[in-house]
Amino acid sequence: MKNAARAAALAALLARPALAAAPAPSPSQFLNLEVGADKKLADYKQIASYFQALKAASPRVDVQVLGKTTLGEDMFMAIISSEDNIRNQKRIRETAKKLADPRGLTDKEIATLAHEGKVVLLITCNIHSTEIGASQMAMEWAYALATATDAATKKRLEDVVLLLVPSLNPDGQTMETEWYRKNLGTKFEGSRMPWLYHHYTGHDDNRDWFMLTQKESQAMSRAVYKEWFPQVWLDEHQMGSTGPRIFVPPYADPVSTEIHPLVWREVNLIGSNMALRLEQAGKTGVIYGFSYDAYWPGGTKNTAWWKNISGLLTEVASARLATPITISPGELSGGRKGLVEYGAQTNFPNPWPGGVWRLRDIMDYERLASDAILETCSERREDFLRDMAARSRAAIAAARPNEAYRIPMTVAGQRDRATAIRLARLMADHGVQVQEAGNGDIYIPLAQPYGKFVSEMFSTQRYPEVKLVAGKEIVRPYDVAAWTLPLMMGVTVEKATLPAGLRPFGEPAVEAPRSAAAILPGSPEAAKAINAALRGNGSVSILRTAAKTEGREWPAGTVFLDAAAASSASGKFSPGLAVAAVSAVPSSAEKISSPRVGLYKPWAASMDEGWTRWLLEQYGFDPKTLDNKTIQAGKLREKFDVIVLPDIEKETIDKGRPHREETDMKYFAELPPDYAGGLEKDGSKALKEFVESGGTIVALASSGDYLIDEFNIPVRNTLARVKAEDFGCPGSLLRVGVSPHPVTWGLPEEMAIFVDKPIAFQTALPGLEMERWVLAAYPSDSHDVLVSGWIRGEDRLTRRAAAVAMTYGKGKLVLLGFRAQHRAQTNGTYPFLFNALYWSVEK
Ligand SMILES: [Zn+2]
Repeated sequence: MKNAARAAALAALLARPALAAAPAPSPSQFLNLEVGADKKLADYKQIASYFQALKAASPRVDVQVLGKTTLGEDMFMAIISSEDNIRNQKRIRETAKKLADPRGLTDKEIATLAHEGKVVLLITCNIHSTEIGASQMAMEWAYALATATDAATKKRLEDVVLLLVPSLNPDGQTMETEWYRKNLGTKFEGSRMPWLYHHYTGHDDNRDWFMLTQKESQAMSRAVYKEWFPQVWLDEHQMGSTGPRIFVPPYADPVSTEIHPLVWREVNLIGSNMALRLEQAGKTGVIYGFSYDAYWPGGTKNTAWWKNISGLLTEVASARLATPITISPGELSGGRKGLVEYGAQTNFPNPWPGGVWRLRDIMDYERLASDAILETCSERREDFLRDMAARSRAAIAAARPNEAYRIPMTVAGQRDRATAIRLARLMADHGVQVQEAGNGDIYIPLAQPYGKFVSEMFSTQRYPEVKLVAGKEIVRPYDVAAWTLPLMMGVTVEKATLPAGLRPFGEPAVEAPRSAAAILPGSPEAAKAINAALRGNGSVSILRTAAKTEGREWPAGTVFLDAAAASSASGKFSPGLAVAAVSAVPSSAEKISSPRVGLYKPWAASMDEGWTRWLLEQYGFDPKTLDNKTIQAGKLREKFDVIVLPDIEKETIDKGRPHREETDMKYFAELPPDYAGGLEKDGSKALKEFVESGGTIVALASSGDYLIDEFNIPVRNTLARVKAEDFGCPGSLLRVGVSPHPVTWGLPEEMAIFVDKPIAFQTALPGLEMERWVLAAYPSDSHDVLVSGWIRGEDRLTRRAAAVAMTYGKGKLVLLGFRAQHRAQTNGTYPFLFNALYWSVEK
């Protein structure tokens, strides 16, 4: 059907009175496209139009728009259940909410609610856009449920309200289908895209679920933790092509001991039923206890574990999007936790023998697993509802009644109050109850349903060392090893007892200064106001050395806005920001202009580039993207004051492809010629000219190695060639001492930084033409290095520099050897990056 014809058909369907609804069309009929066939993909707009048609035709289907995506699409969720349940969805939600927070309910009331309530089952698909099968399967499954006439399915729909999200990243679903269609029939059919499939985060869109920076995770979390309170959440993914065909829970070790064991018992029960139904249907290659652990809180349903929800994952082997692949038996491999050698074992009794693997297979496996979870939720309806209340009660009982975290908000008690307010706001967005005292201090009680989530996010981590074989190598954490938010955000929190007289937390109103103003250094939030002021009228100046005016001592790095500049920045002063009205700008302050920021973007889609771009946009730096050709063309100084190289390994910057020996080449495929290559010689030369003529380059983490190689500077990375058995730091918080410098203005003398790469700078005495500074250095005692997470070989960091800066020609270089802006989760170290950008426009 042409678009116009489809729209007309849809309009006709919508116009019909409900009683005379036409029979529901199948997705293939409606879209005039054989859903699930080789080389055929429905895009997000088609999927959305299909669900609207299904809603118009079936009283078992409703559609809720969750919010706008990053690129402005409506992200929707289908609600599928019996006609009665669809009509009574409000009451079902209220019951789910009471069971999620059963405070004040008697045992009898809980039993009655569990007896009468419905399981709310959330199934999210396709957060990773290349893992596209589930977005197609969702339409077929919804159609089957909407039109089923058999007693078994009807019973399931009476017991369960299914919330089905066909794609958690609609923008990426659209990008991938467009890219796939464009390259059909060429050498690049089914190839990867040269850009991120989420506008900012790419694959990391499933690493955002405790920080909630992106619109998609915000919208879904609002529906989960503020509206629907599901008891069970399944997130459907795809994995590599050469191992098992599907992973279902139980998960692999380690397991977080803070999560109620009933979560794992329910997850295991559901997972076992999935495996049973798959096996009965003749599907081989089903595995559990493999690769995916139950310890890390960054993903969709992972965060939910700490909020008493039974969160499940399935991972099905991938084809090349909708293009079939053939795997020969010799190519099948294990090599991961739970399956060292590919072959039959108790958690994998019937290995897939190899052969052709296609989209249809992926969808069939996913459909069986989806039906199986619906079945178990129906059969265990009352159990699952009662268990939810039991888990919530246990979480409340795990803390003393008045046990709390306090976020001090006095000037003396909190260095960066603006970021402290952001942390409190984040907890409130998670559905956590947050309170405040008369003096402004913020309290988070632990005796509440999401108390375990709060303690997980607020305490330090120690990764449990799980070994495949006694005495051998430990199993690396699935993702990172630390997520202690107060340390990452640079916010002081302390254990406390709840005082009396608290009120619900509400963000303080902002009083914008009506005269000239001083902004004290130290909060990344200051950048929003400073950048707005720099783009508006008036003048902005910075103090390079401490000064005393109007009876007050201003530290180096204090930014002064004259009255016109302060007025340009109005609306951009974050609550809690340290701003003071002044009558005049001190004469010793130096005027600065708005730094013109370029951000390097390789065609080997870099998530760190995406996160950095998001962060710089959020804080008002307005970065301009620089690709290889633009840099190679030179004359960069005319347009830019500073160029940021995101955390990208040097070979990818130089040649456009990762270093062969270190990277699993299975995951590297050629890009079409327009996107091949890196900066090469011309790009390196242009960058050198840029700095020699006064520009600044800020190299984040790995890209420091590129500067060290190309610029011949008196710094080396002593861990550049370290072996994995000698050093490992898979995403942990480490301690550094900070030295005063324009790049560190306002930062504390000692702080935590996020490290996930082997980088330790050794500086050497430079020649007379150059100045160099160590900005941050690791402690001299190796016991002091680790703050949260896991590390091996910490003695190799002692006394080494974590960040250095130097002059180079007329310009400057800044090497931040850690993840200063890691996934937009490390507000505490953003000032290293932001200050470096302002330093580029200082004399
Ligand atoms: Zn995935």
